Amino acid sequence: MVFKKNNTLMRIRVFLFILIFYAQYAVCQQINPSIGEKKITILYTNDLHSHVEPLKVPWISHTRLLGGFANIATLVKKEKATNANTLYLDAGDYFCGPYISSLTNGEAIIDLMNYMNIDATTIGNHEFDYGWENAFTQLQKATFPIINGNIFLKGTETLFWNQPYKIITIDGVRIGIIGLHGKFAFYDTTSEEMVMGIEAKDEVFYLRKYIDELNNKVDLIVLLAHQGIPGRQSSSGSTDVARNLQTDIDLAQKVSGVDIIITGHAHQGTPQPLVSNGTLIVSTDALGIELGKLEISYNSESDKITVYKNTLDYLFDDEVEDDTTLLRVINEWKQKIMSITDEKVCIASGALTRSYSEESPLGNIVADAMLHAYPEYDFALTNSGGLRQDVDAGLVTVGNLISAFPFPNTVVQLELIGSEIRALFEHGARLTNGVLQVSAGVEMVYDEKKMVGSRMIKCIINGKPLEDRRIYRVLTSNFLADGGDGFTTFRHAKSKKKTNIEILQTMVTYLKTFDEYIPKKEGRVIKI
Ligand code: FE
Repeated sequence: MVFKKNNTLMRIRVFLFILIFYAQYAVCQQINPSIGEKKITILYTNDLHSHVEPLKVPWISHTRLLGGFANIATLVKKEKATNANTLYLDAGDYFCGPYISSLTNGEAIIDLMNYMNIDATTIGNHEFDYGWENAFTQLQKATFPIINGNIFLKGTETLFWNQPYKIITIDGVRIGIIGLHGKFAFYDTTSEEMVMGIEAKDEVFYLRKYIDELNNKVDLIVLLAHQGIPGRQSSSGSTDVARNLQTDIDLAQKVSGVDIIITGHAHQGTPQPLVSNGTLIVSTDALGIELGKLEISYNSESDKITVYKNTLDYLFDDEVEDDTTLLRVINEWKQKIMSITDEKVCIASGALTRSYSEESPLGNIVADAMLHAYPEYDFALTNSGGLRQDVDAGLVTVGNLISAFPFPNTVVQLELIGSEIRALFEHGARLTNGVLQVSAGVEMVYDEKKMVGSRMIKCIINGKPLEDRRIYRVLTSNFLADGGDGFTTFRHAKSKKKTNIEILQTMVTYLKTFDEYIPKKEGRVIKI
């Protein structure tokens, strides 16, 4: 009897418990249907650099091609079709790369990006490579949102691009997306002439301002940043993630309230997101060789990202089908410019590669071409960062050279004293912006293990040691002559004369003097 009575009591208790549980659950559902976890996927790229077609990346594979806009478009479309909670964001620098960008002043790139399902991108330094007014003209042709909140018309409070942020709501989660360009990166890597009418202001101040404006209107804040040290332009990769993204780590420390930073400029992939002051920082290795995928779970009760997973896989061309529409439009643009790009220049017996830390065949060609145009000068210098793409062995066309050196830079004639040249080589040897590539007759040896500022251990100019007080006649680009890539000593030149001759033209003329160009290492810039 006793057992039976207890049993009945137990049944009643269990029944009541279930009843109360369901009643509570129903109330929660009714009061706030958005309660609980929301899963959101953010696909991301940065520094696409006009690589509309798949490219060879020697440090990944010598045979398989990577990236390409038509492949990225397919992956974005696929993800969005199967998962409505998907965003595709980009962190800027879509101009500057293969010739399709330079020959159309970026117009083709914007036209192609219009087919890529981009939810927001920002403005990178290279968007100004063909001038700030041109950037304005081309960006207006975009049908996707572009955001930047700290580039202004010079001397005014008027934004260059009148959209500092954008709010996108996904499955009830309001996401505020802010776009900013690091002030240092802006002045470090733009040509003075090309950004004459605009200025970048402090990104820390503006980030705080926009967070204040957005705080009551959104649940999550994503920053599309373009900042820090520039990507290494080299035929080999680099892996020091934390060092290369230090500026982003610092920014997250200084300004609380950003949930995610998608960053560009350093060309540094983050297989694991960096976490700084609670902010997730992600980036790709640039050129579209990966489509980053950050999956987050957002909890509206705690107002926090509770779980995240980041995937950064190489996008191999042979594993993805091209988006047919995009492929057609790419081919239409290529047809339009074929008469210029297909012109033969010479045959190269080996690949024309790049290096950030020592002499390279492409660096030698650019410097030698300038000296070939003005042989009365002592030597020529160019920046490693200006060399953007390797050229394969075999037929070299004008198109290949434009892709390798995609800037409308011109030759500038300078007079520098020996100690200034020493300072320039020392800046190169810091390896923040890469070494200076030099013309034949210059021999520069440095030791990376020595202190910054005293790394150069040998410098020979045309057979004689560099003399600190002697005046040298030097050729370089207008970009460097204005102090670009941190080579600010160029600004102190005793005399400076513009030739208005495009460096690309000197390269074509110089290489046409060879039936066969044989790239070789001559010991011009040596790292020990
Ligand atoms: Fe950049």
